[in-house]
Amino acid sequence: MANETILLIEDEKNILELVKYNLEQESFRVLTATRGNAGLELALKEKPALVLLDLMLPEMSGLEICKTLKQNEKTRSTRIIMLTAKGTESDKVVGLELGADDYITKPFSPRELVARVKAVLRRAQETPATECLKAGTIELDTIKHELRLKGKPVEVTAKEFELLYALITSKGRVLTREVLLSKVWGYENSINIETRTVDMHIGQLRKKLGTAAEHIVTVKGVGYRFDDEED
Ligand code: CA
Repeated sequence: MANETILLIEDEKNILELVKYNLEQESFRVLTATRGNAGLELALKEKPALVLLDLMLPEMSGLEICKTLKQNEKTRSTRIIMLTAKGTESDKVVGLELGADDYITKPFSPRELVARVKAVLRRAQETPATECLKAGTIELDTIKHELRLKGKPVEVTAKEFELLYALITSKGRVLTREVLLSKVWGYENSINIETRTVDMHIGQLRKKLGTAAEHIVTVKGVGYRFDDEED
């Protein structure tokens, strides 16, 4: 995990210096940008393992950057942690929906930030890289990070992919919203984002799955289950 490249996009100089220093102490390679456009360019060029992304930036907002990175083939698997100010709850939810992995609310302690960075990178490594899961007409290619329906690729966000992955690999078992939050968003003990985020993602995923969405069964008041019965 050490020596991995982290791109920090932050326009507040004191935060930038503090975070850079603390990550370098942990042997990460740290790149920095203070403006939105420059940050995005650097991300596309350097393809860092993780981007620490301030949301309020000059020229281009962090949410726009997040969206662009997740839509680009080259940076789709880049992990993103948002740095948010207090009172920007809606931005946080939008960011997570766009595929950000986590967020940290300012002010934060450098130690907490380093721990979150490591947790997100660890999860990235644990995602198996050599599998193609099949269920009915659904195929999940974990190498290409691609969802295919009847052989045709369907565009999904990183979170939608991971949700489907979690459901399929737990086929037949109910997964509570809390478990899904933990598996897909990585929250272990405290529920940092609302469980309705799970419902919103499931809703979007179902739309994209079309008729294959019937595999995802809502278990009222509990969570979701993937059923793999023949149609
Ligand atoms: Ca800012």
